[in-house]
Amino acid sequence: KRNIAVMTSGGDAPGMNAVVYAVVRTAIFKGCKAFAVKEGYEGLVRGGPQYITEMEWQDVRGILSEGGTNIGTARCMSFRERPGRVQACKNMIDAGIDALIVCGGDGSLTGADKLRSEWPSLIKELRDNNQITEEQYIKHKQLNICGIVGSIDNDMATTDATVGAYSALARICKAVDYIDATANSHSRAFVVEVMGRNCGWLALMAGIATSADYIFIPEKPSSSKDWQDQMCEIVATHRAHGKRKTIVIVAEGAITSDLKHISSKEVKDVLVERLNLDTRVTTLGHVQRGGTPVVFDRILASLQGVEAVKAVLDCDENTPSPLIGLKEHKIVRRPLMEAVKITKSVADAIQTSDFEKAMALRDSEFIE
Ligand code: ATP
Repeated sequence: KRNIAVMTSGGDAPGMNAVVYAVVRTAIFKGCKAFAVKEGYEGLVRGGPQYITEMEWQDVRGILSEGGTNIGTARCMSFRERPGRVQACKNMIDAGIDALIVCGGDGSLTGADKLRSEWPSLIKELRDNNQITEEQYIKHKQLNICGIVGSIDNDMATTDATVGAYSALARICKAVDYIDATANSHSRAFVVEVMGRNCGWLALMAGIATSADYIFIPEKPSSSKDWQDQMCEIVATHRAHGKRKTIVIVAEGAITSDLKHISSKEVKDVLVERLNLDTRVTTLGHVQRGGTPVVFDRILASLQGVEAVKAVLDCDENTPSPLIGLKEHKIVRRPLMEAVKITKSVADAIQTSDFEKAMALRDSEFIE
């Protein structure tokens, strides 16, 4: 029976609490001990029962439907360096942890994979320096790792949905519905900026769900010369057909095909100067991350949390660390590092203006 720890790391996402809930209760149900690592990797590096806390069944009561992450999340610089990971390894062994489930973005999952691949050398270093006993060394030779993607951006390859993305999308659409009413009343244009980093999923889906007039996403940019004409032509046509409101959605990572950032302010200025529209910018900001998770995220997080516990119990030292994903409505296991590698390749392809490759990679399962 393993001692299974769960951690939330990187940016918070609605549904992370449901992951913790599912992992803790499934672990206990399977006869294991469950632990929560507080404040992401910072908690692993700091260690002790305050940061690596055993969780009982009732400790997660009621949290499934709560937004954010009650066990905290953080960005931790020291874990990026080997001495930080040596300390994390020592703290995990002191707490008796032999399996770790990380819910976070690609950075957090890269960190998790690094910890597992370095584990043999980390425990050897600790033993050689007499920081752990020979008995602890033998008992902790294997660390099982499993990843669940917690991110509002829905930017991870090999999974159709990440925990939190549909909640953020719902929040954006609600906000646009509110804006619609005032835009329509005053016959105004609104430029709505949404999160998503290098990924346009939130902007694209929100645009479809709210019938926006125009959408800017990083994956399908126009040239610096053309985007203004294209947008103005479409918006002007809609106005000519009697539409009283204009909604333009801009992904925060929107770019031109020559990789210049397109800001909401620039878009607004074009609508004012070229179409003479009374235009406002609304940057939705952190409300997109907040609030309770939508039903989809609660279910996704719950099913993935259960699967993650099963996965760490199934793995042996030869199994590549799994990522729990969703493919065509089925919960699946994929090699974690493969998913992170493809995700990074998508970002690289966008950085080098190879947008077709980026789209193909995002849909792909494996890099050839
Ligand atoms: P989000 O998508 O919300 O930004 P993320 O998990 O990608 O989430 P990061 O800030 O990239 O967020 O990573 C979270 C933490 O994971 C970092 O603060 C660091 O502690 C750890 N981490 C990230 N990359 C690495 C790495 N290459 N090696 C070791 N640890 C890492």
